[in-house]
Amino acid sequence: MTINKDEARRLLHESNLRATAPRVAVLQILASSRTPLSHTEVLELLGETDWDPATIYRNLVKLRDAGVAPVVSRVEGIDRYSLVRNQHDEHRHPHFICEDCGQIACLPAELTASMLLEGPWANSIQSAMVQLRGECPDCLEPPP
Ligand SMILES: [Zn+2]
Ligand SMILES: [Zn+2]
Repeated sequence: MTINKDEARRLLHESNLRATAPRVAVLQILASSRTPLSHTEVLELLGETDWDPATIYRNLVKLRDAGVAPVVSRVEGIDRYSLVRNQHDEHRHPHFICEDCGQIACLPAELTASMLLEGPWANSIQSAMVQLRGECPDCLEPPP
């Protein structure tokens, strides 16, 4: 999903954040990505800008602290941020990191649903960050 600058500004205002140019740009990048993004990945997607990496990082932290883009993955100790537009979009599904190409993928929520929704732990679990690793289907050599 992509959002335009006006939508990004409105989203920021709703969260009581000032709509600075880098913040709007970061928000648009996060909105256009299906998977959570790290600081480095946001920089790559931004391309050439006048903003230095530290500025972008500070804006990610601002968005995180405001609850707009929480860290939903910590694969390899790298924080990845995802835009949360409603309560149901918190990436409570497992994430898969490919050790070959470094791609991160969102896996079906069913893999953890039985643990999150049923049984004695259902009320105890408030957030989930399940990380799986291996080789993604694109990198896996087809069997001979
Ligand atoms: Zn891969
Ligand atoms: Zn996800």
